[in-house]
Amino acid sequence: MNKGLVLVISGPSGSGKDTLIAQLMEEMDGLCYSVSATTRPPRDHELHGTDYFFIEKEEFRQKIGQGDFLEWAEIYGDYYGTPADYVAEKREQGLDVILKIDVQGARKIRTAAMDSVFIFIAPPSMEELRRRIQGRGTESAESIEKRFHTAVQEVREAAAYDYIIVNDKIPEAVCHLKSVIMAEKKRVQRMWPVLQELFQESEESM
Ligand code: ADP
Ligand code: 5GP
Repeated sequence: MNKGLVLVISGPSGSGKDTLIAQLMEEMDGLCYSVSATTRPPRDHELHGTDYFFIEKEEFRQKIGQGDFLEWAEIYGDYYGTPADYVAEKREQGLDVILKIDVQGARKIRTAAMDSVFIFIAPPSMEELRRRIQGRGTESAESIEKRFHTAVQEVREAAAYDYIIVNDKIPEAVCHLKSVIMAEKKRVQRMWPVLQELFQESEESM
């Protein structure tokens, strides 16, 4: 059995990553979501262990020291990190692991040369991005400005990704995400060992 893929999903805050990931996981089997640790406070609807592991900065620094994170980054003054053990365990089970991480984190995963696919979720326009961040109603005016300002820089980094999906209409964007994942799973370097095994089995039975 092939190890699962690492699906790195990035994009500006408000571009629709959470919305698309939730829909994708409803429609596609064999996926799991890596819940990150963060030191930012939870939003009203967010649950510890489901959306993030909300921890204090001191504990986060300890975890960095212990090598608990596959990658971590400081974003808007808080820490965010991906648990290394969870990702390794799920990939061993053949599950594809979704990492919703920022562009700094994506760079680190790329350097680690893992079997990863880099997908950038872009908003249809910057005006629409602002509307979505404001419409979500989870951020203060200052936080919205910070996120919007960072968005402009993040979009410039999209060139380093494998795929760019513009999230205009949700069903269409989810369909594009599924197509990317299905195609990536059929790449020759992943399918060749499977094919060889199949042929070996049929040769043995002849
Ligand atoms: P992110 O996870 O990238 O920060 P969210 O998934 O929280 O973004 O989406 C931000 C807001 O935009 C949410 O209120 C969500 O319901 C809305 N949204 C997401 N995708 C679309 C879309 N294609 N069209 C209209 N609204 C959307
Ligand atoms: P938010 O606070 O809006 O949930 O997330 C802010 C940013 O942090 C988003 O770009 C999100 O993708 C990123 N992020 C969430 N978890 C991680 C993580 O574990 N590592 C990194 N590098 N970025 C993360």
